[in-house]
Amino acid sequence: MNKPFSLYIHIPFCKSKCPYCDFYSARPEEDDVFDRYLAALCARLAVYGEKYGERLLHTVYFGGGTPSVFGAKRLCRVLEKVKEQFNVAENAEITTECNPADVDVSFFETLKRGGFNRISMGMQSANEAELKILGRRHTAETVREAVEAAREASIDNVSVDLMLGLPNSNLETLKSSIDFCAALEADHVSAYILKIEPGTPFAKQELNLPDEDGTADQYLFAVNELKKHGYAQYEISNFARPGKESRHNLQYWRCGEYLGLGPAAHSFMEGRRFYFPRDLEGFLNGNVPTDDGAGGGFSEFAMLSLRLTEGLQRKICETRFENGGALFDGVLEGCKHLPKNLIHADYERISLTAEGFLVSNAILAEILPG
Ligand code: SF4
Repeated sequence: MNKPFSLYIHIPFCKSKCPYCDFYSARPEEDDVFDRYLAALCARLAVYGEKYGERLLHTVYFGGGTPSVFGAKRLCRVLEKVKEQFNVAENAEITTECNPADVDVSFFETLKRGGFNRISMGMQSANEAELKILGRRHTAETVREAVEAAREASIDNVSVDLMLGLPNSNLETLKSSIDFCAALEADHVSAYILKIEPGTPFAKQELNLPDEDGTADQYLFAVNELKKHGYAQYEISNFARPGKESRHNLQYWRCGEYLGLGPAAHSFMEGRRFYFPRDLEGFLNGNVPTDDGAGGGFSEFAMLSLRLTEGLQRKICETRFENGGALFDGVLEGCKHLPKNLIHADYERISLTAEGFLVSNAILAEILPG
């Protein structure tokens, strides 16, 4: 396999911890931790550059945590090191996540000069009461100003995150958040259903959450409403204007190779999965990743493909797996008993509908080989 690969860089710092969040992040308590982290990332980039430096790298994504708290100059320094060590494609998609509360025009100008060309803005909602419950540091106005600042700095590929099924939310509050995304002319929207993760403050609170039907209604409403505004669904939780799909995330869902650096970052390279433990101090001290076994088998490939509206395709199965046609047929057979409103299945392609995405785990358990 020698196709282009992707690079994920985890920036595990947040100014404060949101009460629903289960991602690995730490509060930067010591002054020098950012510089130590920068040095640790550059050291890992040198190591992996030796190994994969000749391969074409076509997307780079800085996620978190909150990459914007790391500062534009450090993000650019990391990207510079990436370019020194790897064969970065001329048209590579280079994204960083940002908290709207951290940024201004000069922040984005620095990123632009450094080579970033896409921003993923952690908006979550445009409703002030919802943002407050979520413990976010920004308001809707902050998001609007942040998106305008990115555009002023000529970074014109902007994605925003939206959360569904929030406490006290309803179709009306959701509609106003979607209208807000459209008015911003965001290029891409990621819309995730809030999941209450064990061990988070939300798990211990009495929250007025919509019930399962109410959340499903919000999801289907979002799919339709976003479509009306020109955002086509291309994955369970992702929507884009034409040509603005996230190339980096497509790499994951198409079961392509990616290298992930930073505590809690996962990788899939040369048929193996591995990850760095959720341990900042360990990463700063040069720990090595933990092997997570072989990856990219048919079930995994099919499961990822079925997250996408393009679905599982016979031709791709045949190219990728020795007995790909028969494996595809096996899945097709399992689809015969499923209601048509959940799944489209024909000789060439199998794909879930929006209603099917809502119950995708149950469908996958039924149609994929164990
Ligand atoms: S800013 Fe993002 S990563 Fe940090 S605590 Fe909040 S949701 Fe989690």
